[in-house]
Amino acid sequence: MENIIKDIDIISGEEAKTCDFKVTADENTGKSRRLYIESYGCQMNFSDSEIVASIMKETGFDTTSDYKNADVIFLNTCSIRDKAEQTVRKRLSQFNQIKSANPELKIGVLGCMAERLKEKLLEEEKLVDMVVGPDAYRDLPNLVGQVEEGQKGINTFLSREETYADISPVRLNSNGVSAFISIMRGCDNMCSFCVVPFTRGRERSRDPYSITKEAQELFDKGYKEVTLLGQNVDSYKWSPQENNKARLNKKASEITEVVHFSDLLEMVAKVNPKLRVRFSTSHPKDITDEVLYTMKRYDNICKYIHLPVQSGNSRVLDLMNRTYDRDWYLNRVQKIREILGEDCGISSDMIAGFCSETEEEHQDTLSIMDIVQYDFSYMFYYSERPGTLAAKKYPDDIPLAVKKRRLQEIIDKQSILSMIRHKREIGQVQEVLVEGVSKRSTEQLKAKNSANKVVIIPKGDLKIGDYVKVKITDCTSATLFGEIIN
Ligand code: SAM
Ligand code: SF4
Repeated sequence: MENIIKDIDIISGEEAKTCDFKVTADENTGKSRRLYIESYGCQMNFSDSEIVASIMKETGFDTTSDYKNADVIFLNTCSIRDKAEQTVRKRLSQFNQIKSANPELKIGVLGCMAERLKEKLLEEEKLVDMVVGPDAYRDLPNLVGQVEEGQKGINTFLSREETYADISPVRLNSNGVSAFISIMRGCDNMCSFCVVPFTRGRERSRDPYSITKEAQELFDKGYKEVTLLGQNVDSYKWSPQENNKARLNKKASEITEVVHFSDLLEMVAKVNPKLRVRFSTSHPKDITDEVLYTMKRYDNICKYIHLPVQSGNSRVLDLMNRTYDRDWYLNRVQKIREILGEDCGISSDMIAGFCSETEEEHQDTLSIMDIVQYDFSYMFYYSERPGTLAAKKYPDDIPLAVKKRRLQEIIDKQSILSMIRHKREIGQVQEVLVEGVSKRSTEQLKAKNSANKVVIIPKGDLKIGDYVKVKITDCTSATLFGEIIN
């Protein structure tokens, strides 16, 4: 079974990271009803599919990796760019044939596309039986029941509290070493290009004790790495009285205990020193020095920060409503270097050709890349999304050919920077975690270093899940190569 991480194409441009990987569920174990799930888009969607599988398991559904054997097919969708939605539409048309051969088969569209299009999706895609938004997964068994009685099933209610904190996810396609833990849902930022606040609703933080319990359970089962997931993890804020960020801030005077992201990070790091902790995504306006100092204090918190800049130009950042400017961003990077040093990995997301972006402003993106020296980036050209602030306020006026050319320049720049960053690691001795077998040779293993880089090493006597010290001997712009230090 494929490990999802290796399917993510790090710097392939328009579709990189968020819309490229597709995951199928585990083999069924022989129960009568079978569920097949595909996840599109971000890691959060993948994590949600694990929650969906858990909810459906309670109702007697096992997962299958073969859609031809399924009684129910769910597509967990992404709306972040138009292309992501088109990919799902194409997939639905493929399922058309299966449905005509097996009219009993039920098909559901879950996630952001369901939330964005609601009933319209049932009208437009006739074979779809269920449309279920990201906060309505507890209702899935009920909706499946409705569909089995001949009705259509729809629930796109967005909750202000739901975090699925009590649900223990069924791990899909797991390598048994690394797992995602969702720590918050929704987003209260209003980046003008972004559809997420409309499809995933208000920001809510999950009970930290349920998070540490999940991390402990994973460690007890042999997992060695957890990634804490949220649209904006640095904005995590929880109290026993309130988990909704906006309401928590309003009630500040009544609140006794507050857990911030730096506290949560420490709590998870303390689960076990042999459990690596990662997190994503950090918003430049919210990442605090406390988080950086907490990372420094714990060896098992990986020294890697995904800090999307989007643009290197302050006017464009203002139009994007990112609430920071170029200087603020560079100041945050300087702090990371001061506190965590040069080896800390930094990656970014970049959007080429946002509304009214000039050539000079595009040059600012290239120059900020040079200054920061990103280890890698997820790079896209701007795709206007209906209903967003940018779609309402600013014409999408950069021709596609120009967007694509600017994106290519960003990709080329990143490729050079990745090579520079990799080369400086040659000769270093690093501890890496073995995550799987290399695609190229069964005699080689794929491991990860703290900075989130893939290190290919000889198999030796090593097993998946082992920590090992290696010396970096060679690199490409995408991969490091190492030898085992005895
Ligand atoms: N919450 C994260 C943050 O603020 O950095 C980002 C989450 S978003 C799912 C992932 C990335 O998709 C964004 O960082 C942005 O680069 C890209 N993206 C979002 N909306 C886009 C759009 N309309 N066109 C192109 N890229 C977009
Ligand atoms: Fe979208 Fe901005 Fe929220 Fe990220 S922080 S999910 S880009 S609105």
